[in-house]
Amino acid sequence: MSKPQTHAFQTEISQLLDLMINSLYSQKEIFLRELISNSSDAIDKRRFEALTNAALLNDEEELAVTITTDKEAKSITISDNGIGMNHDEVIDNIGTIARSGTKKFMQAIEANKSDSDDVNLIGQFGVGFYSVFMVADQVTVRTRRAGDEKGVIWESDGKGEFTIGETEKATVGTSITLNLREDDNEYLDDFRLKHIINKYSEHISLPIKMLGTAPLDDEGKPQEGVEAEFETVNTGTALWARAKSDITDEEYQSFYQGLSYDMEPPLSTLHHKVEGNMEYTSLLFIPKKAPFDLWNRENKKGIKLYVRRVFIMDDAEHLMPNYLRFVKGVIDSQDLPLNVSREILQSDRDVQKIKGRAVKRVLDELKRIAKDDAEAFQGFWSEFGQVIKEGVVEDAANKDNITPLLKFASTHNDNDEQSVSLDQYVERMSDDQDAIYYITGESYQAAKGSPHLEMFTKKGIEVLLLSDPVDEWLVSSLVEHNEKPLKSVTKGDLDLSDDEKKEQEEAKVELSSVTEKLAEVLSDSVKEVRLTNRLTESPACLVADETDPGANLERIMKAMGQDAPSSKPILELNPDHAIIKQLDADDDSFSDWAHVLFDQAALSEGAQIKDPANYVKLVNKLLVS
Ligand code: ADP
Repeated sequence: MSKPQTHAFQTEISQLLDLMINSLYSQKEIFLRELISNSSDAIDKRRFEALTNAALLNDEEELAVTITTDKEAKSITISDNGIGMNHDEVIDNIGTIARSGTKKFMQAIEANKSDSDDVNLIGQFGVGFYSVFMVADQVTVRTRRAGDEKGVIWESDGKGEFTIGETEKATVGTSITLNLREDDNEYLDDFRLKHIINKYSEHISLPIKMLGTAPLDDEGKPQEGVEAEFETVNTGTALWARAKSDITDEEYQSFYQGLSYDMEPPLSTLHHKVEGNMEYTSLLFIPKKAPFDLWNRENKKGIKLYVRRVFIMDDAEHLMPNYLRFVKGVIDSQDLPLNVSREILQSDRDVQKIKGRAVKRVLDELKRIAKDDAEAFQGFWSEFGQVIKEGVVEDAANKDNITPLLKFASTHNDNDEQSVSLDQYVERMSDDQDAIYYITGESYQAAKGSPHLEMFTKKGIEVLLLSDPVDEWLVSSLVEHNEKPLKSVTKGDLDLSDDEKKEQEEAKVELSSVTEKLAEVLSDSVKEVRLTNRLTESPACLVADETDPGANLERIMKAMGQDAPSSKPILELNPDHAIIKQLDADDDSFSDWAHVLFDQAALSEGAQIKDPANYVKLVNKLLVS
């Protein structure tokens, strides 16, 4: 057998270990949860690989996680008969290469001061194995991959180095021995271990075994040759397969925690058994709080697919669309073939039906919450509203089920809370208003402060204030609601009354030389200059032509590194404003006024101006002239 080799931990891992050992000591016990969860995943993988390679699994072998303690050696060993790891896999998974989550995990810890949540981050970021060093000063991993003859032994004290070498191992799978630190002897106590298992691992649908006590003789004495046997200490059956009426809230919650690492109970638990032509069980959870990685689209999604209790894959796009990626849970089909592939999932009609129903269940539940418990819904919306909005664009078939859920900030509210639904808006619209008005802006403040709202405010017309980046896409898909078109206040002409039209015609004549000269001076920056009655307080504003994308969308596309079709805006003037009234096309300072008006109009809607220094220079010049 070759000599063990010594390797240094990758720098990031050393830092991670430091952090684990020195800062995350308040809930050390979760090391056991992490190891059991890894074992359970490894057993799932072995079952899965055995579907196409029967030799990897022996029918007689019971798949289980076993925990033993050695009180003299002060060690605890967690063993599984899962897939195991070969030499390269051990190196890749534990030691040299920092996994993508490592850095993010450390950043999250630094950002998150309350350490009660830190321990959940460990699971979320896929750095669970290292939590062993919170309780152990020496860790030995013995592992043999299913299909391999030889095993691998990995050892480390967590201080910068590990050794790896070959070893004999009689059985397939992994066993991890922790030499406990002086202060951590509590984990030698069977009772304490059982308690932790019950607390965190009840959702594991595999037996977790520990050595029981040997039966005593009639006099209460140990009997010769009679040894203690292993007992299963958890329920070990798939929770979702049990009858709803037999499952307690605590059991549901602990199962949810196992899936999500979320300490709070879920907002909703949806458990259904579907019978008939297509048989399956779905157990779905809608969380209350968004996870750290809600915006990382490469992440594993929240739904696990099982076929007749066998774990098949962590996937979701085929079972839950992207805009519901926060939904966690399990779908277990009776009918799909065990060797179902991702390609089959994508095209399989039954899978599509299962997905369709699951989506409908979630949307119906959200609708119910919005109706029955406004406060809870508001909490949900502030966490997941932006994601739900993607659904209007992504899932055209469910558009009518999603739009009633949408909530927006509004000029009729005095804070930035997104709490007005389209139905509410339409309900309080006056009879002669024929559109739902909105404005998009870079922030709530920019939208609310926009000069485009002046006339709407004066007339008391409600305008929805949209400032999430996704809103631009939302309004490009959502063109109407209840037959009322959605209209941007920054685009196109305003509907005017006859009196207003007459006034505007008169002003147009009066100011014709000013508008013409402005158009000439600003021809590089604007498409057109015209009068408006949009404004009551500001002298000028910029609007997009009806068919142009608009300034905000252009800004967002540029920020995303995409080519924005750059279109020139229209400069609109307020004919009643003192500055406009005093403009004189023949004055020497006219060109300065023109540029200041244009830059101001851009500034007031939160845009950046091209040459701020020049703007300041011009304003100063005009102030003293
Ligand atoms: P995560 O489990 O979230 O991926 P960990 O740090 O806990 O992160 O584990 C890293 C990797 O090591 C796992 O993804 C898995 O490939 C491997 N691994 C850990 N424990 C076992 C085990 N008991 N059997 C087989 N592989 C394991």
